[in-house]
Amino acid sequence: MEDTYKHKGLRKKLVEEIRKKGIGDERVLSAIEKIPRHFFMDSSFESFAYQDKPFPIGSGQTISQPYTVAYQTELLEVEPKDKVLEIGTGSGYQACVLIEMGARVYTIERYRTLYNKTKKILNKMGYAPKMFYGDGAKGLPSYAPFDKILVTAAASEVPEELLKQLKPGGIMVVPVGTGDTQIMNKIFKNEDGTYNEKSCGYFRFVPLLSNKA
Ligand code: SAH
Repeated sequence: MEDTYKHKGLRKKLVEEIRKKGIGDERVLSAIEKIPRHFFMDSSFESFAYQDKPFPIGSGQTISQPYTVAYQTELLEVEPKDKVLEIGTGSGYQACVLIEMGARVYTIERYRTLYNKTKKILNKMGYAPKMFYGDGAKGLPSYAPFDKILVTAAASEVPEELLKQLKPGGIMVVPVGTGDTQIMNKIFKNEDGTYNEKSCGYFRFVPLLSNKA
């Protein structure tokens, strides 16, 4: 795996493209500029790595579109040292963006093959989120509570169990819907345990599935 000047140049362009599409958080943009996205894809597809598009990564799953990664990350308002739970490790790219922003990342993937493959790639790159194989909708009760929770697959409704694992004052970002597109929900947990929700546009995710594979 090599990160050449050409790759770095393509990444700069990608960042400018995402900036034009409305992402203003410089910390998110610099994380994207730093991380070699082509390392997360098979080498024969390298040329696709710096297009602002999702891409298949095996097991019928995808690495999210860079804009979507940036948008979700921005909504999450990540602060250094935040304890963040990600549902849907997939390629691991989103987890690395969170790590670059200083978060302590816990991430869950339900496909054993993807979990294994991604673990190897991240190790090689020197990223070390706490990785779990299992059903993300159940969260990680023994590691809760979390400052932030990010769901990167489409939930049919806001997962109740995850809300419980969010700290008062915390934020959860979750795409909700059963159709072709989902509404991005940003949920604040108030100090008194009540919630405020905000809809933040339409996106397209693979579904959050409940059984392990
Ligand atoms: N965050 C990923 C994008 C992942 S796509 C990235 O940066 O590449 C969504 C991922 O969620 C897929 O890998 C899918 O297998 C996983 N997934 C689906 N249902 C899940 C569940 N119940 N628990 C954990 N992961 C799940």
